[in-house]
Amino acid sequence: MLPVHATPYIQEIRAKWIPADIHLFIKREDVIHKEVSGNKWRKLQYNLLDASQKGAKTLVTFGGAYSNHIYATAAAANEAGFSSVGIIRGEESSAGNPTLSFAREMGMELVFVDRESYRDKKALLKKLTGQWEKPYVLPEGGTNCLAIEGTRQIVDEQVRNMDIVVVPVGTGGTMAGIVAGMPREKSVLGISALKGNFLHKMIQDLLDTCGVQAEASWSIDTGGHCGGYAKISDELIAFITDFKHSQGILLEPLYTGKMLFRLKQLIEAGAIPGGSSVCAIHTGGLQGWNGIKERFGVGPP
Ligand SMILES: *Cc1c(COP(=O)(O)O)cnc(C)c1O
Repeated sequence: MLPVHATPYIQEIRAKWIPADIHLFIKREDVIHKEVSGNKWRKLQYNLLDASQKGAKTLVTFGGAYSNHIYATAAAANEAGFSSVGIIRGEESSAGNPTLSFAREMGMELVFVDRESYRDKKALLKKLTGQWEKPYVLPEGGTNCLAIEGTRQIVDEQVRNMDIVVVPVGTGGTMAGIVAGMPREKSVLGISALKGNFLHKMIQDLLDTCGVQAEASWSIDTGGHCGGYAKISDELIAFITDFKHSQGILLEPLYTGKMLFRLKQLIEAGAIPGGSSVCAIHTGGLQGWNGIKERFGVGPP
């Protein structure tokens, strides 16, 4: 249902911090679509198909004021001919920010709710849902079993042949799909974008709920969040800047930047076995710089 603007491809990364016996690749999922980038495209694909088969008219979803998922859903709904509603955590005053301005341009109706009410999504839906024509509800971050079917397709023949796949983790839907797609003897390493140790259980629950029997081994590294979700450090920004200049690839500070910065640390610490082929997934989300610029005054290199 969603067009592909460019086919994702794999390229090798060469840098001083990569030892000669480790081959590091990056899969450019960021190129798949200009607005519905990377993993959000993968997650939305089958949900849109399901929505249209069920005769739904309005996509309803949730997110913060700078959410990549809100941005992508607004664009995808517009392109696929759905109305859309974004239930936004926070103040109406954020409606003018670049992420939400774009969402509104795409025709998304924005409903602002305070943090307290935002927590109880069931109650919110019950109260609001009567207002919209044939709604189809997508969870926050877009993660559900159909999303995992989509993210599973990030694993193509070339990715299957890698020893280790590295992916950033927010709600875990992208990692769960990659775990589902990777064969025995291979491993998947998730780098958490947020603080806390609940992600392993969250992903295991997701795999169980969706009936996925993991063949590959998988684990989550929680040492790369740089202070928490959407927090940055000078070292992280310096790394992203250097990566852009040396590789010509733009990362963003919330997910892909933290993933590669952490991977560099792990490689330097000897945590990645020599002889490995490693493939990091560029999950896209470059519009996330909008929030970083607003909060910290730092723009993309
Ligand atoms: C949303 C997002 C993620 C997190 O994906 P999950 O499936 O929620 O874990 C990672 N990278 C980017 C660029 C994102 O926009």
